[in-house]
Amino acid sequence: MTDTRVENERAHQLVEAAENLFTAGVMSHSGHANLSARLDGGRFLLTPGFARGLRPEQLATVGPDGQVLAGALQSVSAEIIAMHSTVYRARPDVGAIIHTHSPAATAFAVAHRPLPCRTEPMLRFGQAEDVPVVPWGPRGSDVSVRGIAAVLADRPTTAAVLLANHGLLVFGPDSAATAHLVVAIEESAEAELAAAAIGGAVDFPDGALADVRAAIARVS
Ligand SMILES: [Zn+2]
Repeated sequence: MTDTRVENERAHQLVEAAENLFTAGVMSHSGHANLSARLDGGRFLLTPGFARGLRPEQLATVGPDGQVLAGALQSVSAEIIAMHSTVYRARPDVGAIIHTHSPAATAFAVAHRPLPCRTEPMLRFGQAEDVPVVPWGPRGSDVSVRGIAAVLADRPTTAAVLLANHGLLVFGPDSAATAHLVVAIEESAEAELAAAAIGGAVDFPDGALADVRAAIARVS
């Protein structure tokens, strides 16, 4: 069992990650987001349906079959349990998941355009490859969840996916690392869009991404 001290620590880290994303200015105008952190026994902590002004005691605990074990979820949040569960099942190394509607990243999701890895922060924070697009399906639906699982199977090293016509889903070892990657991806999307006005973004030199991916594989 994860002891209470560890669970409290993960709850505080998750709340801090949400705060940092608002402070960084990467949330959509609505502030819509959901964040989760893995516990043991197939359980995870999940935001209750909002992320702004969140307190640790407001997080719900979700069980391995998607049942709410503690706390309460707004109905809007119950729908997204499957979205988080499928990532935890597919990626045993993932400790936290963040879903946002970050505006520039969502532009790529709406355009069905993978986001290339062409900035240093994306490399540094763990996404040494483009962010693939998962075909659209209603949020939390079987179609959407199967689509996420299929892309994760096809792209075993990606730490993020764009949800077509919807937003961004990022996952990492813990809440802080995952939040850092959300910021790096949103900044990269902004840079791509800005660069498009002055001739377009340019790839890293040949072989750079392969070298970084190999280095990441060696330490993970
Ligand atoms: Zn959403």
